[in-house]
Amino acid sequence: MFDLRLLIPLKRLQDWRCRSMRNLKTATNMEELSRFYSEQAFHMHFESKRRKTFQNWPFDKTCSCNPETMAKAGFFHIPTEQEPDGVCCFLCFKELDGWEPDDDPWTEHKKHSPKCPFLKLNGKPVESLTVEEFIRLEIERQKNIINKLFDMKRKELEALNTEVRREMEHLLD
Ligand SMILES: [Zn+2]
Repeated sequence: MFDLRLLIPLKRLQDWRCRSMRNLKTATNMEELSRFYSEQAFHMHFESKRRKTFQNWPFDKTCSCNPETMAKAGFFHIPTEQEPDGVCCFLCFKELDGWEPDDDPWTEHKKHSPKCPFLKLNGKPVESLTVEEFIRLEIERQKNIINKLFDMKRKELEALNTEVRREMEHLLD
C-alpha cells in the first residue's frame, strides 16, 4: 500500500485539510448535542416544561395537535426555518414534522415510535411516578441519547467515507 496523499498536489491537500477541520467542528457540535440531550432536554421529562416550548406553535386549541395535547403526548417543540412544526419526544427522541390540524399527537407518536417507553405509561405524568419508576425512565432516556448520537456519528462517517472515496477515484482517473 502506498499513501495516496503523496499523489495529491499541494492545493488539493489543503482542501482536504480544510474538510478535516470542518469534521472536527462537527465533532464539537456532537459534544454540544450530547450536552443538550443529557442536560437541557432532561427538563422535558415534565409536561409543564414541554408545554412552554410551544410558544410559536402554528396550531391553536381548535386543532387536535395543539400545544396541550402535544406536550401530553411527550413532545417538545424544536422549530427550524424549514420545519417550523418540528417536535421531538423527550424520551425516544423521535422527531416529527409536517403536522395536519386533525393529527392526534398520541396516535402519531405510537405510529412512528411504537416502542417508546413513555407510551407505556399511558399518559401518567412523570410527577406521579415513584422514584424507582422515574430512574428506570431516565435510564431508557440515557440509552436513547447514546443511540441517537451514535446514529448521527455513523451517518457523518458514512458521508465522509463517500467523500474520501470520490476524492480517491477522482485522483486515480
Ligand atoms: Zn417517544
